[in-house]
Amino acid sequence: MKELSYQTVRSPRRKTVTITVERDRTVIVRAPQDTTDEEVQRLVVGKRQWIIEKLRHPQKYRNRLHPPGKEVVNGEAALYLGCEYRIELVETSSGEVEFAQGFKVPRAHQAKRRRVLKDWYMARAKEIILPRAQQRGHELGARFKAAKIVENWYRWGSCTVRDNVNFNWRLIKAPMFVIDYVIVHELAHFLEANHTARFWSIMRAHVPAMDKAKDWLKEHGQVLEEEV
Ligand SMILES: [Zn+2]
Repeated sequence: MKELSYQTVRSPRRKTVTITVERDRTVIVRAPQDTTDEEVQRLVVGKRQWIIEKLRHPQKYRNRLHPPGKEVVNGEAALYLGCEYRIELVETSSGEVEFAQGFKVPRAHQAKRRRVLKDWYMARAKEIILPRAQQRGHELGARFKAAKIVENWYRWGSCTVRDNVNFNWRLIKAPMFVIDYVIVHELAHFLEANHTARFWSIMRAHVPAMDKAKDWLKEHGQVLEEEV
């Protein structure tokens, strides 16, 4: 059996070990400072099948449609709820990003424009996705502790071992039927842990636009990697 190669990144702030497969197919193990090489090795071996599946996953590793770190400038566009809107730098006194059929970013924030735009997205994601998750959870009978909007580079949504559910803030860029798909997908895992026939029949019953949503995600997966 071929050895899996991986990098270990230790941090004193970290309390748990996570294993991620990056886009360039490097496997990174993030671990608390005092984790030994042997412990890391054992965890990697335990997760071997999962890692191999991730490494084989095709769509995650498609080429980027946009170069990384593209500039936010006048005339450029950004997605919100599935539609593209222009980004403009404007003179305002409020100092806030405004949205009126387009993004108006205060010129004063030019240097940190990505961050203010991200804050704006984050706030909209909380306003729109979290109540929707509550509602859909209620309909499905999926009992989760808390729903959160998180920074997550490779996934749209995830369930945690503590019965929480996390959604990537970039999901707010997607159309509502896609947001709904991702929400129900994560919540359906509370009823059925794996992608079994039962899982997909729950999905189909609750998300009529499921196939369309999956297609959108395949097509626009690179949205996950954009900085804003
Ligand atoms: Zn799933």
